[in-house]
Amino acid sequence: MRDLANKQRLLKTFIELVHINSPSFEEREIGAYLIKRLEQAGCSVLVQEYDRSFNVIGVKRGERTEAAPLLLSAHMDTIEPTEGIRITVDDEMVRSAGGTVLGSDDKSAIAQILEALDVIQEQNLSHGDIEVVFSSAEEKGLFGAKNLDCRSIRSRHAIVMDSSGSVGNIIVGAPTHITYKMLISGRPAHAGIEPEQGLSAIRVAAEVITAVPDGRIDSETTANIGIIRGGTATNVVPKEVVLHGEIRSHCDGVLTATRDLIFDTARKIAARRGVTIDIMEHEEYKTFRLREDGPFMEMMKEAFRRCGIEPALVLTGGGSDANIFNQNGICAVNISTGMQRVHSTDEFILKKDLYAGCQILLECIILHSSLRRDT
Ligand SMILES: [Zn+2]
Repeated sequence: MRDLANKQRLLKTFIELVHINSPSFEEREIGAYLIKRLEQAGCSVLVQEYDRSFNVIGVKRGERTEAAPLLLSAHMDTIEPTEGIRITVDDEMVRSAGGTVLGSDDKSAIAQILEALDVIQEQNLSHGDIEVVFSSAEEKGLFGAKNLDCRSIRSRHAIVMDSSGSVGNIIVGAPTHITYKMLISGRPAHAGIEPEQGLSAIRVAAEVITAVPDGRIDSETTANIGIIRGGTATNVVPKEVVLHGEIRSHCDGVLTATRDLIFDTARKIAARRGVTIDIMEHEEYKTFRLREDGPFMEMMKEAFRRCGIEPALVLTGGGSDANIFNQNGICAVNISTGMQRVHSTDEFILKKDLYAGCQILLECIILHSSLRRDT
């Protein structure tokens, strides 16, 4: 592996980033930092506002005008808690000192992208146009990506850097994800005086929860009821319960069948028990499944191999901004940055992975510049 990235500068950038508090929808400070860094790296910068936050788009023009443009993407927000973060840095890794997450999800990716841009700038590496999207509020439901005006993106290929685990994974498929809310309405009554007059929404909800398919449905499909709210007092036969659930599947046919089974089962139980049920559903994002051959994927695999890593092409059960890019006709993989135990206070990243992720990105940029615009 040839050394392109500057290890010290990469680490310094990463540490600066983790010290900028950036919960979802509060990305102003990190946004200002990123605009400055993109401009220093020779990018023109566009800020796209939407009602709750904004996305930052950087474009670094390349002299290879015949080359296909490439989109790099990471999200600016982190899961909480992050306030007053303290970290420990040793020879091997950077980790949270406890009490907060580290925020390497997704600041390891941002640092890797910024370092790659700096390397290109200072070493005058030949490249095609590079577009960068730093999105917001990814952790709250891909808000930034969903509000991105993709008409300003010219790339047809994207590398989203938002996957955890050791460097080496290329996510080539993710599920469709729907969420739903069931409102079960029974009839309230005094539980001590006239319970016969009541219809308990909680008892019906319990029956629904135990009757519907749950957990891993098949190798491509999962279902879960994650929130239950209802009842007011022990002496009241409960009037209302709200259940919040979700279904995910790599196969839309199975997803639809599972959804129908869950909703029909709930409606039948409600009818039998004489309560009303209202069900609302929402599609969070759509599935994608990329071809494992073709010029873009071959290029991705080659970039990993050049860094001495045999890539693993994997499917995930989670969603990311890559789902939204794919929905918009941009072929987007999601690769791991080296971040580990994310969304916990044990979060850490190995220094060697932080560096390897950046090296792979640089190889991707170099190799991608030999793909022509029509690929
Ligand atoms: Zn993330």
